[in-house]
Amino acid sequence: MIRNENTPLRAVIYTRISDDPSGLGANAHDQELKCAKLAADNGMTVVSVLTDNDKTAAAENGKRAKRPAYDRMITMLDEGRADAVIVWQVDRLYRSHLDLEPLINLVERTHTAILPVMSAPLDLTTSTGRMVARLLAVVATAEIEKMKERMKLKKESNRAAGANPGGPRPFGFKPVRKTPKGEAPEVQQLDEDEAELIRTAARDVLTGKSLSSICRDWTARGITTPRGNAWQISPLCRLLTSARVAGRIEHDGKIIGDAQWPSIIDYPTWLAMRAVLVDPARRSSDDNKIKWLGSGIYTCHCGNALRIGSSQNGRHQYRCNMPGKGHVTRPAEPLDEYVTSELLDYLTRIAPASETEGMAPEPSVDPETAELEAEVKRQQSRLDALAAAFAGDGDLVEYRTLALGIRDKITELEDQIAQTVVTAYEDMEPDDYGLSAEEAWPQYDIETKRAVLRSRVKVTVLPARRGRPPKDAPVLDTSLIDLEWAPPGRPFKD
Ligand SMILES: [Zn+2]
Repeated sequence: MIRNENTPLRAVIYTRISDDPSGLGANAHDQELKCAKLAADNGMTVVSVLTDNDKTAAAENGKRAKRPAYDRMITMLDEGRADAVIVWQVDRLYRSHLDLEPLINLVERTHTAILPVMSAPLDLTTSTGRMVARLLAVVATAEIEKMKERMKLKKESNRAAGANPGGPRPFGFKPVRKTPKGEAPEVQQLDEDEAELIRTAARDVLTGKSLSSICRDWTARGITTPRGNAWQISPLCRLLTSARVAGRIEHDGKIIGDAQWPSIIDYPTWLAMRAVLVDPARRSSDDNKIKWLGSGIYTCHCGNALRIGSSQNGRHQYRCNMPGKGHVTRPAEPLDEYVTSELLDYLTRIAPASETEGMAPEPSVDPETAELEAEVKRQQSRLDALAAAFAGDGDLVEYRTLALGIRDKITELEDQIAQTVVTAYEDMEPDDYGLSAEEAWPQYDIETKRAVLRSRVKVTVLPARRGRPPKDAPVLDTSLIDLEWAPPGRPFKD
């Protein structure tokens, strides 16, 4: 048949539909309508609509998937009974190079146009177009493999829950006995002593203790890794951030489900601890607001409160702003250091560490986090349903978009859980969790420090001595700082 430019191009609409219980994918009818509209928009005549039902385009075991409608379409093009193919997405046509290479040959022979509704026309007659198409096939293959792997892992996770894949047992768990072939392996059991160490470490991290001090502490107590080595920061960090201790199974950095073994740390606490370990800045949110300990609290001998100012060399100073002579100025940092060390000495002597030392209570965040946690679970089942729906077949671009949306939502929820727990720990007074005054002090925020200062001591700065100070004089003459302490048990009131 001789065709001229006035003869409309003849298009085949090819749709492929998947079994999609999630109902999230575009169904065949929608696909067909959109394809027909594209044909009309391009002035094409639709000569045939071909549909493969519930067939996958993914290659299995190196063999092309069987798709009768697709084969009919290829025959039509080959025999010159159609000029163009209209599809919803290019992945309707091929998902592997096994389909793509014959298609490229066909297009080169017949100059068939390929028009996907959802993207730009695919031009397999140019090398760039072919390269893009091949890349898409590679990406599609990888995506399918990943999805399958994830589903397989999930299925196997129950079976493999207790299996020890060789090597030393994980810290916190008892060794798993070898089971005869064919028998289900035992579920891992907790080693309660080690589990308790992990729980304490989690609280320590959340209350601002460093991993290196936890390592030192464990080493001092003779606690080693299962291999018998001294604990170092990075193995400890890996242990604490592993999903295993939260009773979850992780794959590719994503939690894919609950493990059969019991959790050592509850999930919200684990999320919070992991967030702090990944980003220590989360814990000290108002540290960047510089405020001085004694500004407006320390007083000049005249009774006026001292304020912070800068000296000519840019150093900060406490200053009395009253007019006239004899009022005081003192370098700010040395004065704060001196007052702090005296205050800690007072707190240690007068208020020795409480009986609860070493028994860190946990803040109560259960009702808030439980709800968020339930929502995470719901989103995870949505993700599973989606993967199941799209694994056999389905629109990959669509799958990815939907999956990313759900994953973002999960990340956001996990972030909220972590922040709830982190904030709860921050809101606790450090001495609530049994730290000594010296350990607790650095963890107080500046407002708390100022409140403690105000309630325990009145700091009065006395006038400087007359004459030039000797060369070797300290920056701060502490004998000119008068400290009036509150009687034990009877703090000053404002
Ligand atoms: Zn003064």
